[in-house]
Amino acid sequence: MDFRLDFRRYRLEFRHPVRTSRGAWTAREGLFVRLERPDGTVGYGEAAPVPLFGRETVGEAEALCRSLGDRVGEQVLAQVPGNLSTLRNALGCALGGAAGAPRHRSLGVAALLPSGRAALEDAPPKADAGFRTFKWKVGVGAADDERAMLDDLIGALPPGSRVRLDANGAWDRKTAERWLGCASERPVEFVEQPVAPESKGADDTLLGLAADYPVPIALDESIADEGDIVRWLGLGWRGYFIVKPSLMGDVQGALGKLAAAHARVVFSSALETAMGAQAALRLAFAWPGKMSALGFGVWPLFADSRFDGPGAAPFIRIEDVDRINPEDLWNALS
Ligand code: MG
Repeated sequence: MDFRLDFRRYRLEFRHPVRTSRGAWTAREGLFVRLERPDGTVGYGEAAPVPLFGRETVGEAEALCRSLGDRVGEQVLAQVPGNLSTLRNALGCALGGAAGAPRHRSLGVAALLPSGRAALEDAPPKADAGFRTFKWKVGVGAADDERAMLDDLIGALPPGSRVRLDANGAWDRKTAERWLGCASERPVEFVEQPVAPESKGADDTLLGLAADYPVPIALDESIADEGDIVRWLGLGWRGYFIVKPSLMGDVQGALGKLAAAHARVVFSSALETAMGAQAALRLAFAWPGKMSALGFGVWPLFADSRFDGPGAAPFIRIEDVDRINPEDLWNALS
């Protein structure tokens, strides 16, 4: 069977620049792909590589699409090089890669708090709105100051709340040890990426820290694609895996391995548009393991709100996911 392939490249400004370890990120770039079957049915997918990871660029994905021509067969994935993970993901979605039946009607979402003292003002209204999991960026200011603020933050939250601390790899081992000791005695769900994956001996440090402290550690920057998931499963990682489904070339395969290992997974946004987020969220709703609050509290995200997913609420319902219409997003680019 032949499909008609179309693709559209996009560049969408964020409402506010996203701060990263390498400076401000002001706009998201990616591609939408569209596959039309001879019977007229259509599938869509989004390829949104993260420039920081440097494994794939939008330009490479676009060039590959152009080289495929406007007619492709069902074996099209075999023509996509392994490093173009998000393009494989997009074409897999457009081919109708099924997420499986939903096992949940509604899933909790983690509230994103700003770094530093601003979190103390931001958290109470979010708690009033119903959020009970709060993600706080740390490793931005001085570690001692931030640690002193943690108790103020916890004190500002309702009983039963849990805090995720995301260091984005900012700490050295000594600093990480102090934080993990402190977090182990507090309602901290996990500490995300205490040390950077590219720091010397990072894997051993992470494994050592995980063995030494009761508070779980979550890997985020350490897992850029499914190869990293396989590697960390092989290392016997028992902490959390932050999974951004949109970045995985063979996302079903990666999730299958995580499920077989009874791994603890947090489904998260890669700051893609609602098109890619719909596919990612469907996988989250079909996840057979224990569910942690979703890392999808990112919207509103784009200056053009047509590309946003469901707005920041403490829960996302399956109806919210089903309501996203990829055809509308495709047309919004024309
Ligand atoms: Mg993170």
